[in-house]
Amino acid sequence: MTDVIIIGAGPAAVSAALTLRMRGKTVQMLYAGGGALEKAHRVDNYPGMPRISGKDMLDIMHRQAVEAGAEMKKAVVQLVQPGKKKVTVLAGNEIFTCKTLLIATGAPRKIGIDGEADLLGQGVSYCATCDGMFYKGKSVAVIGSFEEAVEDTAFLCDIAAKVAYFPEAAHDLETLDKRAEKMTQKVLSMEKKQEQVLLRTEDGELMYDGVFVLRPAVALSQLVPKLETAGGKIVTDEDGATNIPRVYAAGDATGLPYQIGKAVGEGNRAALRMARDMAAMEEGGQ
Ligand SMILES: Cc1cc2nc3c(=O)[nH]c(=O)nc-3n(C[C@H](O)[C@H](O)[C@H](O)COP(=O)(O)OP(=O)(O)OC[C@H]3O[C@@H](n4cnc5c(N)ncnc54)[C@H](O)[C@@H]3O)c2cc1C
Repeated sequence: MTDVIIIGAGPAAVSAALTLRMRGKTVQMLYAGGGALEKAHRVDNYPGMPRISGKDMLDIMHRQAVEAGAEMKKAVVQLVQPGKKKVTVLAGNEIFTCKTLLIATGAPRKIGIDGEADLLGQGVSYCATCDGMFYKGKSVAVIGSFEEAVEDTAFLCDIAAKVAYFPEAAHDLETLDKRAEKMTQKVLSMEKKQEQVLLRTEDGELMYDGVFVLRPAVALSQLVPKLETAGGKIVTDEDGATNIPRVYAAGDATGLPYQIGKAVGEGNRAALRMARDMAAMEEGGQ
């Protein structure tokens, strides 16, 4: 068990990781990709780093985090399960545990297709490795938006009788398994129909036994059930503590302004609070 898991590797996450390392805490960062900063062509308002691209800034930050002793692992976190004595985190096919968790997942956005959340576990899955075997000899649709979805499709092609791949966002499809049918239509909504999942697309309706939705992002309500949000952003106190004990948040995830300086400041403040709370937990024998 690590002291802290941080979801994300943007400015808020790195800032928190550095401070937590300075407080002697073990830190595991789990991140899906580059986040908002990677998209910034040029940043001119962050002190000490003039005329720098977002990508270069992020590279420097990541190097600094690793040099400070934080562990960085590329993995999409699917589910956080807070408990009385620890927090359990499901990422890809792995399970991690920690004493405290920081959510630094960036700006809130609408994630998901109409009907998707209602069918989770009832024909819709977010994990090919976990649930692929349920579809042996059956038909599945993959709604994918990044390279790992393409990789997982090959695994599903080994199991299922029929696989259709619906690209949800632009990504490299060069290595898509030849056994998968590449679809061009956009999926608009889904619903359960006679033990199958009906996908409503721009061009009509299609039925599959199962649907795998493989994205580098997860809706907050699904990531941390019962987490208090308002207008999509995570509600915290002035130190970044959420309504769930052991769970904290920082950066764009807590709302405007979407700025590096604000993300770094909140990451730092949450880290100090987490270190304080962990000390109190230890004193209290938790
Ligand atoms: C085009 C553009 C230009 C910008 N220019 C500027 C500028 O000039 N100055 C300025 O101050 N700000 C600028 N910003 C805003 C700035 O980039 C953000 O405010 C800042 O990056 C927020 O940091 P963050 O750590 O909160 O989130 P992000 O940097 O968005 O990082 C979020 C992290 O969470 C990860 N993540 C999300 N969900 C999951 C999951 N389920 N599992 C694992 N990991 C997950 C992502 O992969 C990423 O690592 C710009 C933003 C954009 C898009």
